[in-house]
Amino acid sequence: MNAMKSSLLEHTTAYIDGSWLEGPPKKTFPVVNPFDGKVLAEVPHLGADEARRAVEAAARALETPTPLARRRDWLLRLSEQLLSHRDELGEIITLENGKPLSEARGEVEYAAGFFRYAADHIDALRPRRVEDRPRDHDWMVHFRPAGVAALITPWNFPLAMLAKKLPAALAADCSVVVKPAEATPLSAIALFAILDGLEMPAGKVNLVFGDPAEIGGVLCSHPAVRLISFTGSTEVGRLLIANTAPHVKRLSLELGGNAPFIVFADADLEAAADHLIPNKFRCSGQTCVCTNRVYIQREAAPPFLDLVVERVSRLKAGNGLEEGTHVGPLIDQAGFDKVSRHVRNALAGGARALVGGEAPPRKSDGGWLFPPTVLSSVTDDMHCVKEETFGPIVPVIEFEDESEVVRRANGTEFGLAAYVFTGDEKRAERVIRSLHFGHVGWNTGTGPTPEAPFGGMKQSGFGREGGLEGLFEFTEAQTVPRGK
Ligand code: ADP
Repeated sequence: MNAMKSSLLEHTTAYIDGSWLEGPPKKTFPVVNPFDGKVLAEVPHLGADEARRAVEAAARALETPTPLARRRDWLLRLSEQLLSHRDELGEIITLENGKPLSEARGEVEYAAGFFRYAADHIDALRPRRVEDRPRDHDWMVHFRPAGVAALITPWNFPLAMLAKKLPAALAADCSVVVKPAEATPLSAIALFAILDGLEMPAGKVNLVFGDPAEIGGVLCSHPAVRLISFTGSTEVGRLLIANTAPHVKRLSLELGGNAPFIVFADADLEAAADHLIPNKFRCSGQTCVCTNRVYIQREAAPPFLDLVVERVSRLKAGNGLEEGTHVGPLIDQAGFDKVSRHVRNALAGGARALVGGEAPPRKSDGGWLFPPTVLSSVTDDMHCVKEETFGPIVPVIEFEDESEVVRRANGTEFGLAAYVFTGDEKRAERVIRSLHFGHVGWNTGTGPTPEAPFGGMKQSGFGREGGLEGLFEFTEAQTVPRGK
């Protein structure tokens, strides 16, 4: 199957007010396969005008509420249709993002799970009676849609990042304007091809892309947009906070991470190494929950490094569409340059590359493959520890004791995900309580799931996605005390 021939990509354009954008666009931009640099599609480069049209269409759609049962039906059908198009969507994700096909299919299943969860739990959004009957009044709490919601998503999970937001927004009966990353708009377009088949009211869901600053400007300032749900860099997150401040809009921000993976000498080292590999190498290490730095207790360092080296040397980097590829390319030249810079900085500072370390010269036709790399003798002052590398690099750092490693793990402005491996329950409880991260895996490298809330502490953002907490994210409580 050729994904670019997919029925889901019949229209490679934006979707506003219930229709695909018509007519030839004034300007376009290419969507590129990061494995070989080939152009997959040319899509319209849109800006403030289209963003405004999308917001206004969404505002009109908001005027007619959709009954809860119909919203549940949409969510269920979306979940089913994502699953029935799993392979087709998976191929689209792999082509535009580069990740291996098995991961891309897993992403589709993960995305479907968020729609399913919202459908199964939408009753939580029904009005609630306050049992205490304060002041001898009947008190009702209604969960109203927050308004037009803007959903701005990154390229590392082109489908799932949207699926972490859209089901909750639809469950709450918001209308939405989606702005996917320009590197990967095709997965969002494919999702909109499915949405288009659901016969939603015009304007309920809208899709625009092109100039992020222009589109973002409208989303931040237009009075109809009441909430922006954003996943991306801390820099852009700060910009959204600043640009929405004059308009007092709600924000839900999932920003950068710098995840520590802490292994105590009393841990099952083999299990820790097994968990590290998928956690670290998913999407070539370009996820905000993936391990950025491994802390191993000094006495266990030699055997643990052997276990990690053995596993990482078996990983094959290559074309995500080919069977047997474990690690795909990085998303673009800037991503590739950052990873190369981090590795060079570590090696210059005394680290040793036990596997990988140097990227072969890039092919002239593009492609940003970086070899899976293990670095030992890493120290906290190196760039690969201080910054989020977003690449297939395992920097291994040694530590002596518990309080020291907690302090070093917390020594970052970020607080998204952390992982702790220890066989000692008391220690695990102490360490987890002291770690300022929204997600802490205990003897597991597993990431978020549709059934539980996920989000950051500190400068990793605020707001939660998934679980009941995530379902309420797009609602506004309206309280109605009733006199006699
Ligand atoms: P990354 O480093 O993962 O690419 P970004 O924060 O740059 O993260 O991008 C995440 C999303 O934010 C993308 O959809 C991108 O187009 C969008 N974005 C970038 N700049 C702005 C902006 N000024 N206003 C609104 N959205 C923006």
